[in-house]
Amino acid sequence: MQVLKFGGTSVGSPERMHHVANLIQNGQRNIVVLSAVSGTTNKLVAIAAAFQDGDLQLAQERLYHLGSEYADFTKSLVAPAYQSAADDIVKDCLGTIQRLLDQAFEPAFEKVILAQGELISTQLFQLYLESQGLTSILLSALDFMRINDAHEPDAAYIREKLGLILEQNADTPLFITQGYICRNLSGGIDNLQRGGSDYTATLIGAAIEAEEIQIWTDIDGIHNNDPRVVQHTSPVRQVSYREAAELAYFGAKILHPTCVIPAESQNVPIRLKNTFAPNAPGTIISQAGSGQSLTAIAAKNGITALKIRSDRMLNAYGFLRRVFEVFEQYQTPIDMITTSEVSVSLTIDNATQLPAILTALREFGEVSVDQDQSIICIVGDALNEQLGYTKKIFAALSDIPIRMVSYGGSNNNISVLVPSTFKEQALLHLHEHLFQAAPHVNSFS
Ligand code: ADP
Ligand code: ASP
Ligand code: MG
Repeated sequence: MQVLKFGGTSVGSPERMHHVANLIQNGQRNIVVLSAVSGTTNKLVAIAAAFQDGDLQLAQERLYHLGSEYADFTKSLVAPAYQSAADDIVKDCLGTIQRLLDQAFEPAFEKVILAQGELISTQLFQLYLESQGLTSILLSALDFMRINDAHEPDAAYIREKLGLILEQNADTPLFITQGYICRNLSGGIDNLQRGGSDYTATLIGAAIEAEEIQIWTDIDGIHNNDPRVVQHTSPVRQVSYREAAELAYFGAKILHPTCVIPAESQNVPIRLKNTFAPNAPGTIISQAGSGQSLTAIAAKNGITALKIRSDRMLNAYGFLRRVFEVFEQYQTPIDMITTSEVSVSLTIDNATQLPAILTALREFGEVSVDQDQSIICIVGDALNEQLGYTKKIFAALSDIPIRMVSYGGSNNNISVLVPSTFKEQALLHLHEHLFQAAPHVNSFS
């Protein structure tokens, strides 16, 4: 079996949904995972935000506007005979939101509102398939996709539930399901964070030990730099799970930050494909590395750097443990870390607990904070075994203030921390020095 995931732009218009219907007819038994129509999740976020802010009128206007956009969408999606069924799908999902807006806001409502995007896209797509005489079963991701109390996917539960559903439908060649949405431990509707449909696809792929997970998007695979910032980037044809995981975690938006992990755990290859150029080779992610000492560069914004300076650290043991315990207590992951004899610098990308973390760390010594930093991550296959790269990297960054450097933590990654105002310059200069292509800033960046 294969898992085929189509992102928001791939199902972003009725014509694109028609195109996806052609792409999935590949002679295989498939589970098709769909995102919401592009733009919808952002609009749902905006409805939930207005609702939470108590601006009911704005929430209502936004909901109305979304409804009228879908009225146009359904008209072009299906033939007149299926029109009222399509409109009922939209009415039903937007009606769920309306019923919430009629009550006092509760935090759990936000997740229910955000889930409607994938619920609409999958039902509309399946209706279109039906209108074309294609048989499929629509699986509700809410029946098998679950996160645990640490907000991590419950792989054993997903495997068991999904396994059972597939067993009960052994003769069905085609399943459609929602990306992104899931249930939490209390049974409430939840999600796998923005961009989470990739994660749904790899969790399903691992659970059923699929032959391949295909992630169809709007670009022909992983590029060697961020195409939103640098022009003339090129696709990388083959990367290892480790290389892809580093790139995804450190900002390559083409993949959800943690979606490589389930596929790697079951050794299922992930193929990245371009919906708009289906014959382009794309990128294959598997155990085999890129074979290139230098694969790609990515950047992650919104990083906070903390420096803890304490004379008590000198020749002491147990100091770092106590520092790490603070981050454990406040459930905040650390990304980069560097130490000197009397100080330690580390970065976090989730600063929601920062005030409490700072209070706890100040017990140990002086703490300074730098916000609005970016991690620039240079990824390669056995990068640390190659001579000369560090020289090129530092030459490229010679006019950029570097706050931290992480080298040797893995064979695949050299990371530097720079103020976010220098991120674009860093990506461009690294591209020029490492890939020797003349870069240009995109006009839209
Ligand atoms: P989807 O809606 O299909 O999930 P996304 O917008 O999440 O698509 O991801 C695809 C986008 O990721 C591309 O359009 C591209 O702009 C961006 N991107 C950022 N870094 C990279 C990279 N290194 N390689 C390819 N695409 C990248
Ligand atoms: N629709 C969700 C989002 O926009 C999930 C996804 O597209 O992967 O984040
Ligand atoms: Mg995405």
